[in-house]
Amino acid sequence: MFEVWGPPLFMQMTNIAFFECSRCKSIFKPTPLPTVCEKCAGTLYVRYDFSGQRGLSARDSLGQNKDDRRWSGMWRYRKLLPTVEPVTLGEGWTPMLRSRRYENVFLKEEGANPTGTFKARGLSMAISMLRSYGVNKVAVPSAGNAGGAVAAYAAAAGMEAHIFMPKDVPMANQVECIAYGAHMTLVDGLISDCARIVTEKKQAEGWFDLSTLKEPFRVEGKKTMGFELVEQLGWEYPDAVFYPTGGGVGLIGMWKAFEEMEELGWITGKRPRMIAVQAAGCAPIAKAFDEGADASQMFQNAATFAAGLRVPKPYGDYIILENVRKSGGTVVALSDQQLLTSLRDWALHEGLLLSPEGAASTAAYDHLISIGFLKESDRVVLFNTGSGNKYTDVLARHLSDHG
Ligand SMILES: [Zn+2]
Repeated sequence: MFEVWGPPLFMQMTNIAFFECSRCKSIFKPTPLPTVCEKCAGTLYVRYDFSGQRGLSARDSLGQNKDDRRWSGMWRYRKLLPTVEPVTLGEGWTPMLRSRRYENVFLKEEGANPTGTFKARGLSMAISMLRSYGVNKVAVPSAGNAGGAVAAYAAAAGMEAHIFMPKDVPMANQVECIAYGAHMTLVDGLISDCARIVTEKKQAEGWFDLSTLKEPFRVEGKKTMGFELVEQLGWEYPDAVFYPTGGGVGLIGMWKAFEEMEELGWITGKRPRMIAVQAAGCAPIAKAFDEGADASQMFQNAATFAAGLRVPKPYGDYIILENVRKSGGTVVALSDQQLLTSLRDWALHEGLLLSPEGAASTAAYDHLISIGFLKESDRVVLFNTGSGNKYTDVLARHLSDHG
């Protein structure tokens, strides 16, 4: 747990019952500024007092009464999130688009979020909580898009942000940090090298470390993708969910959302097969999955144009692997050329400029249909985690290389 800064604003009205370690299952009482498990350094989950939220009447009254209509986007699920005054830029409730060509394929368009990516959800939630605890300086290692989102939400919250990113991240991420007034350091290395710097400096600098899965609240924001996809499909599970997996927070969050909705009696039926999608040039989860391992190894010489997938050793690898296996899903790793081909295919035929990571979802769908892992009659949700417009420099280079 972390030292407390600032005034004791904490938790007069919280719905947090306790924190539970995702690895050793230890339970901790609600404390300000939770980080990771004191015993094993596993990621902590928020566990709630959900009284008043059980049953279909609570579900079907979402957004119905007058008070609720003030709350838009992902905050429509605020009663299933930690109680806090939101720092919001309009995140969540993104479009669920049906493919023009395949009637059972839906694309969850996360490019519609503030800062153009799904990162907005987790960081709106986490920055809201940190503001309520009186934190005024945050730091994060990022593959790119989390950096931009931290910069934006920290600006909105009046916090100082310190962003560490590989020096070759897309230009948009660098521009965001500069425009939002974040302290940006470009590192000659990967996100794992950036993480090392944050770990070394955070105590002396008084930074709160917002690294993926080293605090429990980004998962809470990301889990709203799970609520939304189910609600947007008429409170039914799809057969499979395709998720581009770098750090894997969304996959972890959605599985938690499914658990919570079942506990509340909001949904029944078979959960979707979770398909984690990686780039062949950085595929630690795919390798661990194929080897039957419980955790990943640092992936050597990680390289892919899908910047968000360049995470050589995800902190939550053990949770991702466990969830994918429990769901009967799989992990797919595809070449950059396959991603690029699918990106062009969806731009030409669907009018959607996907991010390279989103194109990993669409390419993985084609692949799993071709090998018979899924059938065309299976209803699937493919995540496009960000807008292709954030990658114009990267795409200009690759589209001209490959014609
Ligand atoms: Zn633990």
